[in-house]
Amino acid sequence: MTALKSEIADLKSQIHFKAMIKVGITGGIGSGKSTVAKVFEVLGIPVYYADDAAKRLMNDDKELKQKIQLQFGEAVYKDGQLDRKFLADIVFNDPGKLQLLNALVHPATLQDAEKWMHQQSTPYAIKEAALIFESGAHEELDYVIGVYAPAPLRIQRAMQRDKISREEVMARMNKQIDETIKMRLCDFVITNDEQELLIPQVTALHQKLSAK
Ligand code: ATP
Repeated sequence: MTALKSEIADLKSQIHFKAMIKVGITGGIGSGKSTVAKVFEVLGIPVYYADDAAKRLMNDDKELKQKIQLQFGEAVYKDGQLDRKFLADIVFNDPGKLQLLNALVHPATLQDAEKWMHQQSTPYAIKEAALIFESGAHEELDYVIGVYAPAPLRIQRAMQRDKISREEVMARMNKQIDETIKMRLCDFVITNDEQELLIPQVTALHQKLSAK
C-alpha cells in the first residue's frame, strides 16, 4: 500500500497541469477595447465581456437583485426587470451611490468571470472590462492588455457611436482613471490610433500568449 501511495505521488509530480492563462483587456471610453477583443475572438480566443455580464447578472442573479433592491428600493425593478434609467438617475450624479452599486455588482461579476474562465479550454481566455484596476479584477488575472488611443480620437469615436455630445463624453471620461496611468499598469499595450496597424499587433500578442 505504501509502495502504491509513493507510486501515485511520483506520478502526480510528473504531471504538470498547465493552468489556463487569464488575460484582461482594458482601456478608456472609445479606446477600442471591444474592437480589439473581437479580433481575439476571430483568432479563436473566448472573451468575457464584463459590461454585458454585469447587465445580465443585475437581471438574473437572485442574490444580487435582492441586494440592489435593498439599497436602491423595490422600484428599481419593474416586472422583475431592472429599470436601468431609474437606477442611472440615482447613481449618475451621486458618486457615493455609484460606489455603492459598484460594490455590489463588481464582486458578483468577478465571481461569474472566474467561473466562466474555469470553463474555457483554450491556452488563454480574455476578460474585457473598462474597470479592471478599479474593480480589483486585475488581481485575478495573469496579464492585462491596455488598449490605447489618444483622447481626441476617443472623444470623437464615443460621440459618433453613442450619438452624444462632447460634454457628455468628457463627463464619462473624467470619471475614469487617467489613461497614461492605466497604460503603465498594463503588461502589454495595443495602440489603436488608426495610424499603427491593429491586426498585426493583436496577432503578435496572440502568438506570445499562446506560447506561454
Ligand atoms: P467603451 O468603453 O466606450 O464601450 P470601447 O473601448 O469598447 O468603448 P469600441 O466600442 O471598441 O471601444 O470602439 C469605439 C468606437 O470606435 C466603435 O464605434 C468602433 O467601431 C470604433 N473604432 C474602434 N477602433 C477603431 C479603429 N481602429 N478604426 C475605426 N474605428 C474604430
